[in-house]
Amino acid sequence: MKYDIIVIGGGPAGATFAANAPKKYKVLLIDGHKIKYKGNGKPCGGLISPDAQKLLKQLGYEIPAEILTDPQIPLVKTIDIDSRVTLDCARNYINVDRAAFDEWLRSKAADNVETVFGICSDIKRDEHGFSVCVSGENGDISEYRSEWIVGADGADSIVRRKLFPNKKPRKYTAIQQWFNAEKDEPFYSCIFDKTATDRCMWSLFKSGKMIFGGAFPQENSRKRFEGAKKKLQMHAWYKFGEPIFTEACTVVCPRAKDLYCGENKVILLGEAAGFISASSFEGISYAIKSGKLAAEAFNCYGKPEKTYKRMAFILKIKLMVKMIKAALMFNSFFRIFAMKIGIGK
Ligand SMILES: Cc1cc2nc3c(=O)[nH]c(=O)nc-3n(C[C@H](O)[C@H](O)[C@H](O)COP(=O)(O)OP(=O)(O)OC[C@H]3O[C@@H](n4cnc5c(N)ncnc54)[C@H](O)[C@@H]3O)c2cc1C
Repeated sequence: MKYDIIVIGGGPAGATFAANAPKKYKVLLIDGHKIKYKGNGKPCGGLISPDAQKLLKQLGYEIPAEILTDPQIPLVKTIDIDSRVTLDCARNYINVDRAAFDEWLRSKAADNVETVFGICSDIKRDEHGFSVCVSGENGDISEYRSEWIVGADGADSIVRRKLFPNKKPRKYTAIQQWFNAEKDEPFYSCIFDKTATDRCMWSLFKSGKMIFGGAFPQENSRKRFEGAKKKLQMHAWYKFGEPIFTEACTVVCPRAKDLYCGENKVILLGEAAGFISASSFEGISYAIKSGKLAAEAFNCYGKPEKTYKRMAFILKIKLMVKMIKAALMFNSFFRIFAMKIGIGK
């Protein structure tokens, strides 16, 4: 079957593209979440940042009440374990069920978009365009063809790996565990402990459960995670109990050279493009923004991939500012100093 555009990945980036895809194109959206995450959503905090909230409003979307999860989050607590310094900052996050949120965004796909559920297992370029192999829920293999490819397939993007093998982004392993909680606390914690990770860890509450997670260097990631839990319990910051669920996935921690929009009839969106904050790992807003920009690029005169690259320039600058913030935040001397004088409050 032949399409103008094949979008691989129906997370926030691919779904936003699909919702705004210009009518003149025949579009196929391929999404593998049912197979990849075995019925659960992508491992995520499910916190919709103020930037993402603004973008959703611009798109005319209002998050339906049934997707919201308690508690809503008006506060971020930053904790430096070794120095025992803490800082509270007011910041409004909307707490959602991430799987339901993605489903809701996908439901907005334009009429000219067909959706297929399956895992893209191969992509090849030839003189007529692209051929994409998809393995379905029953293991059946189908082949689709297109003129353009939109890679919105997240941190482990097959589009990026197959079509741009030299553009490997820096990757960490994100691990989260869910625990029963006595009550929902209305804050999100950002935790620093340099023995566990040179990035950050986090905790939050969601519908009677507490989620504790973090981004760890890929080597010994599980050992680091368990070590961090032990230390946090020992210092009486947390009382975890038995985990009810553990989830893990790759997360991109971008450097400037990892921000890559694609070229030559291939467009990368969201985390596949490296568009995620290097300081907080907040990525939903960048996914939505890049999906919207790419759809607009297909509506403009000229080559969509070049127009998109130009349009995404501001997004890249914003992400580079986050990288500078990350370099300061992940330096314990600067971080403790900044927390003590209340920077970011
Ligand atoms: C543990 C964790 C917690 C996070 N918490 C937050 C948070 O609270 N707030 C926030 O803003 N950001 C958070 N992030 C970041 C955020 O989840 C991502 O940046 C964001 O989801 C990226 O959106 P995306 O659409 O680019 O990719 P994804 O959301 O990863 O979506 C990719 C989609 O592509 C599909 N896919 C992948 N490979 C294939 C394939 N081969 N074939 C077919 N389909 C495929 C997947 O099934 C998925 O549906 C968190 C990340 C992690 C790892």
